[in-house]
Amino acid sequence: MKLDLLAIAPHPDDVELTCGGTMLKMAQEGYRTGILDLTQGEMGTRGTPETRLREAARAAKILGAKVRRNLGLPDAHLRVCDEYKTAIAEVIREFEPHTVILPYWEGRHPDHYTAATLGYEACFVAGLKNYPLAGRAFRPFKVIYAAAYADVRPTFAVDITRQYEGRRRAILAYASQFRPPKKERKSRVALPLDELEERMGLQARHYGRMIGVKYAEGFVVREVMRADDLVSLPVRSL
Ligand SMILES: [Zn+2]
Repeated sequence: MKLDLLAIAPHPDDVELTCGGTMLKMAQEGYRTGILDLTQGEMGTRGTPETRLREAARAAKILGAKVRRNLGLPDAHLRVCDEYKTAIAEVIREFEPHTVILPYWEGRHPDHYTAATLGYEACFVAGLKNYPLAGRAFRPFKVIYAAAYADVRPTFAVDITRQYEGRRRAILAYASQFRPPKKERKSRVALPLDELEERMGLQARHYGRMIGVKYAEGFVVREVMRADDLVSLPVRSL
């Protein structure tokens, strides 16, 4: 199956949290989108890997993704190595995505920045004809990085105002991750779920303000953005 857009991230829920609105928007535009989770997030303290897989499938459906794959690499132990790179590159060859979204290449969680390097290198080697990989050589055209987890100024932002509610529902599909187990429910501490929702909402508002809309998601590209029509450039300067 050929995809237009593939989002790669280390943990199920990363895509929802960093570019879920954009994924939904692209699916609504008619593009074939997919998600590749590198691990099952088994180091998370809540929920089982099985629950998480179920939740991930539900979230993917909400985001309109055609496919969601999990490579089952070890959570919290990602490293740049041939074995993992090969596993990702074979998925790239299988789905031939035109554009790939990766996590930003710096951040607090090692899995996130490691996934950025692994993903980039996998995109590269997938295009090498003689690299020992299953499938036909293919290299994506564009790699973009989701800015959300990093303290970085985005190169551009995508208006997700109309997708915000869908993104929220996709994030909440991971209920087991963000709700305390029953026995802790009566504790006075704020639900991590509430905190998470608030933080994600604030960030989407922050990116939104940058481009003059209510909610947005920010991205970084290494290349210069090209413009051909200066009169139709969006985002007001003053
Ligand atoms: Zn993560």
